[in-house]
Amino acid sequence: MQAAIVTVGDELLAGETVDTNATWLAEQLVARGVDVERITTVPDRVADIARVVNEHNAEYDAVLVTGGLGPTHDDRTMAGVAAAFGRSLKPSDAVLTWLETQGGYARDDLAAGTTDLPRGAQPLHNEAGVAPGCVVGSVYVLPGVPEEMKAMFERIESDFSGSVTHVTTVTADEPESALLDRFEELTDRFDVAVGSYPGEHVRVKIRGTDETTVNEAAEWLTERVVTA
Ligand code: AMP
Ligand code: MG
Repeated sequence: MQAAIVTVGDELLAGETVDTNATWLAEQLVARGVDVERITTVPDRVADIARVVNEHNAEYDAVLVTGGLGPTHDDRTMAGVAAAFGRSLKPSDAVLTWLETQGGYARDDLAAGTTDLPRGAQPLHNEAGVAPGCVVGSVYVLPGVPEEMKAMFERIESDFSGSVTHVTTVTADEPESALLDRFEELTDRFDVAVGSYPGEHVRVKIRGTDETTVNEAAEWLTERVVTA
């Protein structure tokens, strides 16, 4: 399964808020065996949200959108997702009922637009806040507030699956470029993918679907790199 994550918010693009939602969601999805192919951040603008959701929806098996939910002027995500599907927004009776009976809110206390979802969307109730999320086709719309997003993700996580990738890290103290010949031989010998991440040491990540193969590949490489 291939997925894309879309995070919505002017504050993310301004560098005011660290996009921890994207990182957290990517980690959860990858742990479930999903290939995360894109993480895209868009401003609080309906046209931009609609375009990116539409493009990613055409390309990937699932799209997870976070941020920009709620009734304030800069919360444009529901309108953007609705536009991506050529639908209008409609107040959801199911959301209103849930907020009144489970959420502890009175109808009159809810700001106008609180229960609006794209027409035909399946609501996702918000156990940790007010703004509902929803599912439209294979697009999942989640709140931006991290605790609310996490609580909602837990209720849908079983929708995301794939073959789990095993990862082992080998550390090397050689210039990255000097390691290229061994990387080539490693991928010739073993059915694994290799990523190298320089820093104080070079961290070589070996990934594959078969755990034994990944471990054998890591052993093979460990014997052939210089460590401090
Ligand atoms: P919003 O749903 O866009 O109104 O966001 C509500 C709050 O959630 C923001 O004020 C941020 O503090 C937080 N938030 C939104 N998006 C993210 C994100 N991608 N990563 C971390 N925090 C976020
Ligand atoms: Mg926002």
